[in-house]
Amino acid sequence: MSELKTIQVPDIGDADSVEIIEVLISDNQQLSIDDSLITVESDKASMEIPSPVAGTVTSVLVKPGDKVSAGSDILVMAINDTNDHTATEAPAQDTTSAPAKPKTNTFDSDAYDVVVIGAGPGGYTAAFRAADLGLNVALIERYESLGGVCLNVGCIPSKALLHTAAVIDEAKHLEKQGISFAEPSIDIDKLRSFKESVVGQLTNGLKGMAKQRKVTVLTGNASFESNTAVAIESSGATQSISFKNAIIAAGSQSVKIPGFPYDDERMLDSTRALELQSIPDKLLIIGGGIIGLEMGCVYAALGTKITVVELSDQLMPGCDADLLKPLQQKLSNDFEAIYTGSKVTKVEAAKNGLTAFFEGGKAPATEQYDKVLLAVGRSPNGLKLNATAAGVEVTERGYINVDQQQRTNVTNIFAIGDIVGQPMLAHKATHEGKVAAEVCAGKKSFFDARTIPSVAYTDPEVSWMGLTETDAKANGVEFEKASFPWAASGRNLSMGSKSGLTKILFDPNTKKILGAGIVGKNAGELIAEAVLALEMGADIEDLALTIHPHPTLSETLNFAAEVAEGTVTDIYLPKKRKR
Ligand code: FAD
Repeated sequence: MSELKTIQVPDIGDADSVEIIEVLISDNQQLSIDDSLITVESDKASMEIPSPVAGTVTSVLVKPGDKVSAGSDILVMAINDTNDHTATEAPAQDTTSAPAKPKTNTFDSDAYDVVVIGAGPGGYTAAFRAADLGLNVALIERYESLGGVCLNVGCIPSKALLHTAAVIDEAKHLEKQGISFAEPSIDIDKLRSFKESVVGQLTNGLKGMAKQRKVTVLTGNASFESNTAVAIESSGATQSISFKNAIIAAGSQSVKIPGFPYDDERMLDSTRALELQSIPDKLLIIGGGIIGLEMGCVYAALGTKITVVELSDQLMPGCDADLLKPLQQKLSNDFEAIYTGSKVTKVEAAKNGLTAFFEGGKAPATEQYDKVLLAVGRSPNGLKLNATAAGVEVTERGYINVDQQQRTNVTNIFAIGDIVGQPMLAHKATHEGKVAAEVCAGKKSFFDARTIPSVAYTDPEVSWMGLTETDAKANGVEFEKASFPWAASGRNLSMGSKSGLTKILFDPNTKKILGAGIVGKNAGELIAEAVLALEMGADIEDLALTIHPHPTLSETLNFAAEVAEGTVTDIYLPKKRKR
């Protein structure tokens, strides 16, 4: 007959009251000697506590988050007879108190609590949050300038230029209101300096904040040596530093289509396009996604003739058709040509330009352009970090899978931002960075956001959050929709615009808000209210009964909710039942 035995935490050195971060057993599980029972984490190491005997788990007495010390009960086990043999062979050893086997090495006394690889929005946020929580942090970045893609060659420089583009466009449209300006004269060097000054202000600000927080910034290319050490290579010299926890925030890079003439400086990616070296007469943009269209809006306002070619049947694939319509209309006016359902098969460098060869749609067979911008997506940098040396699994495409605490398959290594998957957006990266830092500091943080909003800062802007109609239809999700056309918005009309739309998707039974989409001026700012409503579990009545200031564009969310309620008075809906 098997004997029941309570298995306890053995002597774990000088670590008292350590936290259980993982329970690796469940009821009725068969265990052999040395099978891992729980993982605990002290300030020195994470370690797995092995089973001292073989048998069957009858009840688990602990859960993640519990604090345990030597002698704390872990589980009750029905002991196998085979344990007798072990007992007679080694009678002097009390197997129930065998020393725990550290999973990772005991850390060097100079090991950083947290090493962050990559100083983009994910990485610097994680580093700063970890430092604010009292941890000793190193932030490794291969470039001198902190801020990653977003601050240096992404979100910020593109928005600086998009603002300029929007002002040029607005000035042109004032003609209808009797105000005419001369054609703008563009000093590209000054414009570039303005963009660079915005970037510089923010990236220098990061340097200052790193200093204030006593975060050690190390410049160089990081690669893993093990699950506790990372090598940093800079100008041929390599230094090694050790860590208790690492956060991978190494981001992504532009996808390249093989065979295009990348050595030719007229062949651009978004980084080169943002350098604003010159204003081409004719620019071909391959890829009609958000980045391609934003760059198109910038260069179109500066006077370039833009052609966009997109493989899918619509621009910004995945965006709802009603939101896309006003943008498509505007771009059809502002751009030279838009070819959807088409692709570029080849680009050849010629003396007078780059010759593009098209296939499909209404695109011509060939056409020559001064420059070509490739904007067909971004791929994660996971395969460039020697992550296997740390035991971190990386997918074939370079993504690193994580759990809701941003933890990889290796207990003390986390990953955040573009490298963990879509959507590749800065605000997702920063949120994940905070979660990872807080978990490193022992907090019970999780990534449990209900939605991550998307914004195209085009002219007009398009934003959406939560459920989209496209996804709802594809997945058979039941929803009702209420829309408010901006042609009835006093604020929109007073700004000289007639187009724009705000829509809300909601649950037909509970009336809870499921999603929202906006197209029009400042759509990127306006969507935040809908995100808050979704996070708060608001229903359509909450939005309809919230008093919004008048006249504002924010009212359009209120009016759309009133459309759903049948209480709207700013438009006439003859068929809607009135309350
Ligand atoms: P990144 O910002 O990519 O930073 C990663 C950092 O890691 C880089 O600085 C890199 O040099 C460093 N690194 C990589 N490997 C190593 C290594 N081995 N050793 C040391 N350092 C390393 N998102 C938005 O939310 N809003 C926008 O408006 C927006 N606009 C964009 C416009 C453009 C043109 C582009 C290209 C992107 C835009 N994005 C936007 C996306 C946004 O920039 C990314 O989602 C965001 O930067 C991802 O942050 P991250 O921290 O994951 O990585």
